[in-house]
Amino acid sequence: MINLNPLQDPSVEFLNEVVSSKKKKKNEIPPFYKDRVIALSQIMLPAYQVYDVAFLQNTLHRVTASITFTSNQKNDLLNLYNYSSKPFIKLKNKIISRPNNHEVHTCQYCTINSINTLDHIMPKENYPEFVVHPKNLFPTCSQCNSYKSTKWMTNGVFEFLNPYLHYLPNEQFLFANINYVNDTFDVRFYLGNPNHLIPSYLFDVIQNHYRNLHLLERFTNESYKVISEFDNSIQGSLTTQSLDNSLNSARASIRLNQATFGFNQFENILKLELCNGLAFRQYCQVSGY
Ligand SMILES: [Zn+2]
Repeated sequence: MINLNPLQDPSVEFLNEVVSSKKKKKNEIPPFYKDRVIALSQIMLPAYQVYDVAFLQNTLHRVTASITFTSNQKNDLLNLYNYSSKPFIKLKNKIISRPNNHEVHTCQYCTINSINTLDHIMPKENYPEFVVHPKNLFPTCSQCNSYKSTKWMTNGVFEFLNPYLHYLPNEQFLFANINYVNDTFDVRFYLGNPNHLIPSYLFDVIQNHYRNLHLLERFTNESYKVISEFDNSIQGSLTTQSLDNSLNSARASIRLNQATFGFNQFENILKLELCNGLAFRQYCQVSGY
């Protein structure tokens, strides 16, 4: 998981872009949708300012819903969001771009699936005024988005990491336990903060995030594919070098990968454990490598 940069342009500009992209429909009777949302966007300006200031000060947990909308107004607002429309695709492309023409196409909530939607960090159902606030939108996969649902905060603690604002630690907090039993790899992931180097408030949010998105189970389900790729690459290099040397080169490439994807990317954690633990060596011995 890596931090991504939010949109740098003024948030209100994005709201105006979305509103102006709406077209009057054939046979629509007044008051027209476009006119209704233009009026609503004016009402929302102070709330946008509150969000932007809280975002800058990293105090989003203090932002409360300040406007009461009728159910028709709320519907109008929710209809502003449309992932496949031009302003949102443009926004997503800006957020996923990294230096040197790199783009992040994997959901950074889970680091498993491809991005195919935008999550509303403060849920749109409870905070319709932020339905198209660009700093409230984060590119994710639909699986994470549906697990997230309308969860946001419980007793003042965030239920999810916010990859714009929670600075992700350079400390390892995701670990894997691998055993080789009955010709099979048994993989369990777990979270830990063994040396208490991660502040406890942040580790609480990390634990919430991984539990709510079922990440440990999802990593285990993905791990057989990763192990098989790892096995193929080690077997390939065993034609020219020893097992120890093959594992050393694997470690070196994992380290390079960590520089790009952080210290808690599940594939790297799994491969490092295969390099360092006993399970893979036992498998090699049993298989006669
Ligand atoms: Zn995801």
